[in-house]
Amino acid sequence: MNKFESEQIKHQIYLEQYKSGQANKIIAILDQSDRKIAELLKKTKGIYTKNRYKEIAKEIKRISKSLRNAVENGTDIYGIIEYELKKQKKLLSAIKDDVIRFNGGKVDFIFPSLEQIKTSALFAPVTDGMTYQNYLEGIEYGLFNAWDSAVRTGYLIGQTTDDIVRGVLGGVSGDGKLADSGSIRSFRNSVYRNTRTVLQSFANETRSRVFEANEEYFGDGGNKYEYLATLDTRSCLVCANEDGKLYKSLKDAPKIPRHFGCRCLIIPYFDIDGQTRSSTDGYVSDKITFDKWLNMQDEKTQLDVLGRTRYELFRRGEKIDQFVDNGKTLTLEQLDSRIDIKKVLNNNISKPDINNFAKHAKDRLSERGVTVDDVYDAINNPLKTYEVRKDGTYKIIGKSATVGVSAYDGKIVTVWKTGKERLRKIKEQQNENSE
Ligand SMILES: [Zn+2]
Repeated sequence: MNKFESEQIKHQIYLEQYKSGQANKIIAILDQSDRKIAELLKKTKGIYTKNRYKEIAKEIKRISKSLRNAVENGTDIYGIIEYELKKQKKLLSAIKDDVIRFNGGKVDFIFPSLEQIKTSALFAPVTDGMTYQNYLEGIEYGLFNAWDSAVRTGYLIGQTTDDIVRGVLGGVSGDGKLADSGSIRSFRNSVYRNTRTVLQSFANETRSRVFEANEEYFGDGGNKYEYLATLDTRSCLVCANEDGKLYKSLKDAPKIPRHFGCRCLIIPYFDIDGQTRSSTDGYVSDKITFDKWLNMQDEKTQLDVLGRTRYELFRRGEKIDQFVDNGKTLTLEQLDSRIDIKKVLNNNISKPDINNFAKHAKDRLSERGVTVDDVYDAINNPLKTYEVRKDGTYKIIGKSATVGVSAYDGKIVTVWKTGKERLRKIKEQQNENSE
């Protein structure tokens, strides 16, 4: 894998986080509307009279309309396009010398304007027949339809108003939060998924416009683009199968996102760092796996991508594809039911390494009134040593200092002063044991 591919993948991972942040913002707007509907429905008694139904329907349509407007105003289209444009400028400039060498001549990258990209992004189909306009309409009518169909079904099967409320909102608990799955809950999930896909399509559109404008500088043996499906692990087999394929133009390549949730990339293909991937019939055999890619990254990127616990597991040889299912990252609880996290972390525990002090731990020393001698003493004469926790660290309690140690390499990650109460309890236990 050349550095351009690697940087594009890294960028896509950060874009995933940005998409999640934006999608959560949209969901927060949606939840506000849900609360309004919940209040409205709780007040509703005689929903079965035609006039009452019409009244509520009118009110819910009004809420739905303002939800749509809030989403439209809350979606930072310029923001994502500008972010993507800046990033591609940076990534292309970083390889300019390679491109010049590759082309044996002058290279002048051209960048389309924000406005040009926005126009094409707004009208480009997102995926599966959905456009940005459809997406907004889906939000407006989806909310109304979720309510309307629950009321109609409820009426047919003779449900009480409470049942209907539960059917729409999945039940509203005391604190006004949604309890279990109702029709609005599945609507909510689809909004989350669609928002992410729409943002992905804006980013893809930006990339495509930038790449196409500079197409003359790319390519090898007539092939100019390369499909990277690296980020899709189990989620889409179709895309995984496409990984590494080469195309002569963007028109020949599949339109991405190929499906909802698709995170595939199509990037310029060319020889930099003298690294051409050998290809036969336009198909590249050496697939880049996400594991391989992540292995090449620095500690900070690995931590950012995985979070502390998964990072600790990854360092101990656990494979990334275990961390995801159906395109979603498993929660630690779900992951724990697959692999015994504690057991993995408690295997091969490194002894504390006094010469390996994390900056965080150094800073804590004076701040918490702990001396290096206290730390030495805790390590050499531990009163108690705990099991490795899910974040991959374990605690040693000494007379004066309590030390947090990374089970992986023995690094001292943090220090505390040992509390008097803790000390008393440990001594008490030791006395009981010796009696
Ligand atoms: Zn895909």
